[in-house]
Amino acid sequence: MKNLHPSMKQYAVNRRNFLIGAAAFSGLAMTGQLPSQTQTGAPSFSTDPFTLGVASGDPLPNGVVLWTRLAPDPLNGGGMPPNPFVVRWEVASDDQMRKVVRHGWAYARPEFGHSVHVEVHGLKPARWYWYRFSVGSAVSPIGRTRTAPAFNDRVDQLAFAFASCQHYEQGYYTAYKHMAEEQLDLIVHLGDYIYEGGPTAGRTRIHNSPEIMSLEDYRNRFALYKSDPDLQRAHALFPWVVTWDDHEVENNYANNIPENNVPPETFLERRARAYQAYYEHMPLRHTSLPQGPDLLLYRRLRFGDLAEFNVLDTRQYRTNQPCGDGTKPICDEVFNPEATMLGDEQESWLFRNLDKSKARWNVLAQQVMMGKYDSATGPGQTISMDQWNAYPAALYRLLNFLNERKPSNPIVITGDIHSSWVHDLKTNFDDPNSPVVGTEFVGTSISSGGDGADTNATVQRQLPENPNIKFHNARRGYVLCNLTRQQWQTDYRIVAAVTRPDEPISTRASFVVENGAPGAIRTA
Ligand code: FE
Ligand code: CA
Repeated sequence: MKNLHPSMKQYAVNRRNFLIGAAAFSGLAMTGQLPSQTQTGAPSFSTDPFTLGVASGDPLPNGVVLWTRLAPDPLNGGGMPPNPFVVRWEVASDDQMRKVVRHGWAYARPEFGHSVHVEVHGLKPARWYWYRFSVGSAVSPIGRTRTAPAFNDRVDQLAFAFASCQHYEQGYYTAYKHMAEEQLDLIVHLGDYIYEGGPTAGRTRIHNSPEIMSLEDYRNRFALYKSDPDLQRAHALFPWVVTWDDHEVENNYANNIPENNVPPETFLERRARAYQAYYEHMPLRHTSLPQGPDLLLYRRLRFGDLAEFNVLDTRQYRTNQPCGDGTKPICDEVFNPEATMLGDEQESWLFRNLDKSKARWNVLAQQVMMGKYDSATGPGQTISMDQWNAYPAALYRLLNFLNERKPSNPIVITGDIHSSWVHDLKTNFDDPNSPVVGTEFVGTSISSGGDGADTNATVQRQLPENPNIKFHNARRGYVLCNLTRQQWQTDYRIVAAVTRPDEPISTRASFVVENGAPGAIRTA
């Protein structure tokens, strides 16, 4: 608490209000009278408590989640005293915050790193809103957000960008600077928001601690990443829909199985700390409150009759990677009929959603690549054991479902691999005559892997053996998606370099998917 004004502690909310705050714990927006302590005086900060910015997420037609975290000393545990604090919030229909349409308060609780999650209701569909927080005399930056269209409305257009893999050490977040200039309804993040490793000398930027293990380590790492002004600005301008991949906990973990030889019980304790820190730093609803080592992250978002997003979690419930993980020749373990990526519950939930969806475009927002990439020349196949093709039982349950049930226009968007790919999704990747049942757009990293390159000699050489691959590029950037009723357009936006700041952006390739015709067509 070294950065706090000494007078702050006396205004901290006492134990009684801490208990009253149990409702805030459930994530409900508080609109009633403020606790009396805050009327007797306001906490005074000598340092800005809003160092991590503001964010919003998971838009509904009548509301969004607003997020911030009080952290006057963000890289050293946050710098807050161990008491709950009352944080006021306001939502306005103008960017000057003059026409406030909703306001209330919520607790920033020490148990959750003094993070604030407000679920605002009572807003109008398909509108821009502006919001801010205040605690005592400190006022946050103003954020902008947008509600979703009404569930049953006819919607003609939707624009979003998706991104993943933002290793802080390996490059600048220039992609976010350019993303902030796009006309978007939302941003989708597909995971590797942080990386867990220790510092590596000589990189563009340097991690702030050895490999993160404790809750405070994870909090400080999120704070380091969120200190980036380009990332903060992208959060402040658009609502985000987030899911995680592996590095929010540990490289290539699967369910309760860690990367290294650690007992599952011990790993689950680490997973609990990592999941909690993730919740604390993301604009998630109370349905995603961590419960010990579990956190319910998969969920559905709807944008009128134009698009539905099934946001998936392929880490928490999957079976272990076969053949010892890594990129390996296919071994017998790959053909385990019990293999699962989603777990039974999530898989049934996904199939039910797809079956009942009335949306034109059905988006699966998820982590690891579904299209096959065999990197071995000639007979025999070598694949990544962390991807869907190493779980063919699960993969073909899904692809056969798409073929048999024919939900409207399935589009899979994917992160993880630090390169851009476009795939035809087929009921058998090894049979060129099998039907195309969907389209996959794999997005490159924001910064992971450094500057990257346009071509990769191995991938280029293997393309004839992988006819489902329509495009590959290994530069950095993000993916822009513009949806209309007739057409889905995807633009691969590429930053020239990420190891130098402020490099320009350009479109490296564009694809369209026509309504009713799975498979991408390159247009530029
Ligand atoms: Fe990554
Ligand atoms: Ca081969």
